[in-house]
Amino acid sequence: MASDNVSVFREGLLAGQVGLVTGGGSGIGLGISELLAALGMHVVIASRKPEHFEAARERIAAAGGAVSSVALDVRDQARVREVVDGVTQQHGRLDLLVNNAAGNFYAPSATLSPNAWKAVVEIDLYGTFHCSQAVYPAMKAQGGGRIVSTSMTLHYRGWPQMAHATAAKAGVDALTRTLAVEWAPERIRVNAIAPGPIPTEGVRKAFTPPAESGIPDRFAVADQQMDAYAQQRIPLGRWGTPRDIANMVAYLASPAGDWITGSIFVIDGGEWLARQ
Ligand code: NAP
Repeated sequence: MASDNVSVFREGLLAGQVGLVTGGGSGIGLGISELLAALGMHVVIASRKPEHFEAARERIAAAGGAVSSVALDVRDQARVREVVDGVTQQHGRLDLLVNNAAGNFYAPSATLSPNAWKAVVEIDLYGTFHCSQAVYPAMKAQGGGRIVSTSMTLHYRGWPQMAHATAAKAGVDALTRTLAVEWAPERIRVNAIAPGPIPTEGVRKAFTPPAESGIPDRFAVADQQMDAYAQQRIPLGRWGTPRDIANMVAYLASPAGDWITGSIFVIDGGEWLARQ
């Protein structure tokens, strides 16, 4: 059973800090934004669609969190700089960047279009670099900061029909290690988290038979298939939750993360090690 309602962190742990979470309005990013705000951080949620970033801002504000939101496509380097400058000017600091925005879909490599390849690599890899580079001056000037990027585990072996995302996330891993060493003198800690399967909207969709299948209760079928997947494929016997990932982000943002840089934390219930 997931322990989503139990906090091991003390109240106000991240008070006074400011964090920017890309893609922080849905799925894993929303879970991260919610936990950081609950621990006292002012969270800025940045993504493309108001139905994500505005809805998340309202939800977190209603729960008493300090939060703001901004429209951002991480592929647009000039806009990324503008947003980061705006946040640092408004708050006077930027303690944490969470590179969580990503795009993904299954597609056979033989017929993957240049645009499809470009879209995923530009969001996942270029976006991570654009945001990391943009926060560097402010973090350097204030004497340090933290960057946490979201990777994956699919590239540890091979994952058919995912050439674009696996290549991009392998790049994110490389970037994490390189920036960690390069920016350690500025006391900027750079780490990544590699989540296992978290049933966000997109993942659930992949398990749901299409409407055209004519299956009367296709959502119940999806639930059954997902239960079977957890029992057979995830050694710890359950799917992950956004909170499982958010806990590690909060840990890394806290003083406990002070001597951690260049690490990639797999949080997946043992899934990739047991992968056939
Ligand atoms: P998700 O629900 O699809 O969320 C992706 C987020 O990224 C959305 O909020 C989206 O918001 C934002 N986004 C997409 N393109 C963007 C762009 N160009 N600029 C700014 N924001 C953009 O995905 P998720 O499942 O929570 O995944 C979150 C992260 O975990 C990703 O990095 C993913 O690769 C990684 N991950 C997930 C799993 C999993 O099982 N779910 C496993 C391994 C790794 P807008 O649409 O509003 O832009």
